[in-house]
Amino acid sequence: MTKVTVWNEYLHEKESETVAAVYPKGIHTCIKDFLTSDEVSVRTATLDMPACGLSEEILADTDVLIWWGHKGHERVPDEIVSRVQNAVLQGMGLIVLHSGHKSKIFMKLMGTPCDLLWRDNDRERVWCVNPAHPIAKGIPPYFELEHEEMYGEHFTIPTPDDVVFVGWFAGGEVFRSGCTFTRGMGKIFYFQPGHEEYPTYKNPFVQQIIKNAVEWAKPTAHLEKLACTHLEKPTESKN
Ligand code: ZN
Repeated sequence: MTKVTVWNEYLHEKESETVAAVYPKGIHTCIKDFLTSDEVSVRTATLDMPACGLSEEILADTDVLIWWGHKGHERVPDEIVSRVQNAVLQGMGLIVLHSGHKSKIFMKLMGTPCDLLWRDNDRERVWCVNPAHPIAKGIPPYFELEHEEMYGEHFTIPTPDDVVFVGWFAGGEVFRSGCTFTRGMGKIFYFQPGHEEYPTYKNPFVQQIIKNAVEWAKPTAHLEKLACTHLEKPTESKN
């Protein structure tokens, strides 16, 4: 059983009727509903919970953490960010969605500003540029999102391990929409679609990509501690 925690700041859905109409139970519940299966168990966590719903115990019981944040980035305490960072370094997978590019945790793991160009409502064509990658399994050469926020290059991230998707927008911009990274033992996937005013997380290809990313990012090994350990030279065999 793969254990997923979906973290959502859960602010827009409570403050905007437009967003509430798209995600009446919150983006986190929408993601939980399509991810849950016989093989995947999902819990949700939000900014308003004690410790943002991300206690040591919860993180220790999480294989993959999914992150949706936007206007509440600064309200996530640094202590929680360090806790998530340590969990990733020790092997927990992390999927950062949409405006999570400016979250404290993503910027900390990247070490760069993660800035980009943006514009409201545009049509996006998401191209699969790495069809052999596990996250691209079952995804056609491209699919379209009729309404999505334009994110454009230059995206100030470090060079990704792999670019799986490139977004093209009707205004002509392009963006590295699906990128993978490794930090410590942890696998990280950044995925651009998912502006809160549009039903992006109801798109079957977007759902498939997030399911694939969970399968790809789940830990295959855990590093229990990060301390340097002195090792005695092995004694020679007397045989
Ligand atoms: Zn947005």
